[in-house]
Amino acid sequence: MSGLCRKQRNFQMEMRKSAHSDEVYSTLGIGAEHLEDLDQEATDLLFDEAMAAGVNLLDFYMPAPDVRDRVGHAIFGRRDQIKIQGHLGAIWQNEQYKRTRNLDEVKESFEDLLTRLKTDYIDIGMIHYVDTKSDYQKVIEGGTWDYAAELKKNGVIKRLGFSSHDPVIAKKMAELPGMEVCMFSINPAYDMENAEITDIDRMIEGKDFNLETAQINPKRLDFYAYCDSHNIDITVMKAFGGGTLLDSGRSPFGKAMNIYQCMKYALDKPAVVSVILGFESVDELKGALRYDTIANAEKDYSDILTLRDFSVTGRCMYCGHCQPCPVAIDVAAVNKFLDLAEAHTSVPETVAGHYQALAHHASECIHCGYCERNCPFGVAVRERMKRAQKIFGE
Ligand code: SF4
Ligand code: SF4
Repeated sequence: MSGLCRKQRNFQMEMRKSAHSDEVYSTLGIGAEHLEDLDQEATDLLFDEAMAAGVNLLDFYMPAPDVRDRVGHAIFGRRDQIKIQGHLGAIWQNEQYKRTRNLDEVKESFEDLLTRLKTDYIDIGMIHYVDTKSDYQKVIEGGTWDYAAELKKNGVIKRLGFSSHDPVIAKKMAELPGMEVCMFSINPAYDMENAEITDIDRMIEGKDFNLETAQINPKRLDFYAYCDSHNIDITVMKAFGGGTLLDSGRSPFGKAMNIYQCMKYALDKPAVVSVILGFESVDELKGALRYDTIANAEKDYSDILTLRDFSVTGRCMYCGHCQPCPVAIDVAAVNKFLDLAEAHTSVPETVAGHYQALAHHASECIHCGYCERNCPFGVAVRERMKRAQKIFGE
């Protein structure tokens, strides 16, 4: 191990608390899929740098044995400092990744993960990549779900989770008993993809995205709201849309975003605790770590969402551009809890609890209008503060 992990840092990475426990996640996590090209020394350096900066989440869908071995070496002796999302259903076959619901293959790959990471537990056991009804049925009927539940019961996995790109199937998965974490693909293009598209591969590739007709997909908003009000933590994948959003020539918006805009967009969504990014070098990691030190202007994604009428006008995006409020109300949080409360006929206890836990409430609003003048999305904050006070009683 290099000495980098003992370096003093001059910034504090934002940490977010799990909705289920006192555990905290770093808002930046590492995805293992880009580690294939790194040798042992480079892998060690990457983990030294990341963990010294406070990164404590690793997503490990990658089944390649040599990557598993190298990461096992990199985290040896500090396993307790990093949470691992280990996937059930991602296997290595014929020198390549494959998704499977064959229970023997699922078990073999999961046991291999434990062995190669030199650990006897996985923090989050993720049922891998469930995007269709038929696949959901296979997970339930083919034994993967029972296997995951058994691992949880035996303490081999600490928390149950799943990964998905589809908001309807993801909600079905989230409704399974004991489910606590979802890894979900979040970025502005996916959020505005045609809500009627059921072919997730086409959605991921943006084949049906039409800038002229794109609107926020209500099914995705519904899923975020469900997670927030049912204490499901969301970890985010594909925040850059596979890189397309960073390239003006490939972005469906015809305009490139920077990585910080994409990270902030995902982190602003309800229930999101961390954005998982893949890194091919320490320099790439260092670039992403700048997120916690750069000016808010560099993270401002409002220029994308106001390119045309995506029906975000008047809708709070929880972006926080309107801060600071002179009486220290967290305007984004109040708006989020108001949206979640108004999505139900009665206010869910979890939402009421989260609202009460805020340091300042809507009742403290002095209606100065500062927030409205600084909101890029035309949100009627003062009127919403009145509604929040009425619905939550303070
Ligand atoms: S209008 Fe209310 S919420 Fe907005 S900045 Fe003023 S006091 Fe804060
Ligand atoms: S009121 Fe506007 S600026 Fe403030 S969090 Fe909501 S969308 Fe962002």
